[in-house]
Amino acid sequence: MRKRIPIIAGNWKMHLTAAEAVQLVDGIHYGLPFPGDVDVIVAPPFLSLPGMANHLRESYIGIAAQNLHFEDQGAFTGECSGKQVKDAGADYVIVGHSERRQYFAETDEIINKKIKASYRNSLVPILCIGETLEERERGEVSAIIGRQLAVGLLDVPGPEAARLIIAYEPVWAIGTGKTALPGQVEDVHRLIRVSLALKYGGLVADAVRILYGGSVKPSNSKELLTLPNVDGALVGGASLKAPDFIEIIKSTG
Ligand code: PEP
Repeated sequence: MRKRIPIIAGNWKMHLTAAEAVQLVDGIHYGLPFPGDVDVIVAPPFLSLPGMANHLRESYIGIAAQNLHFEDQGAFTGECSGKQVKDAGADYVIVGHSERRQYFAETDEIINKKIKASYRNSLVPILCIGETLEERERGEVSAIIGRQLAVGLLDVPGPEAARLIIAYEPVWAIGTGKTALPGQVEDVHRLIRVSLALKYGGLVADAVRILYGGSVKPSNSKELLTLPNVDGALVGGASLKAPDFIEIIKSTG
């Protein structure tokens, strides 16, 4: 199995003004000028994308959008398309975050259209999947993960899937301070890897980077990031503080 370069991605959600965003990325860039063998990504709100892309031109920090519409253009008031997100300077896009599923009624079918729109616009999707606490307690984790992968990746061909990033984010661990136990995380990551291997073959399954997300912070990142099938982290709250984000990046080394 070849070594996968880890990813640490910060999801800023609906936080930070443009000036605060600049201050945060400067804190990361100058606080950690040489991050080593790790891909670092930040996901600012739409409005900050062009400013961030311009500001980070010379930096190792990559940029993701937090969402996109599945059409490239049209009468969809208030939305942004993949074409616009790419034009604004993003190279990645978060798709199917549990907050989008929960508050904006995104179904796996919509998410599948967004995954296709990402590839169509040369954006690398970060597909978020994960179960709720009730689903875990009912013993439905594999069924939920299986369905989110099967429908989310419907008709996505192997060469595109090989570039995919998946974030396993148990909904009960997001923004709650509750982190999944290392054993629970590794079990689901292995399940995702096996599902990808069954659908696309071992080479593609080996290439896909599978991140963990859910209350990752400096005190737990090392333990989580050294698990065999964990290739990085999608970080919410702790990505808003440069020192914490830097500590998490360092724990990949
Ligand atoms: C997230 O928003 O994807 C996330 C994992 O948030 P937090 O780290 O705050 O739990």
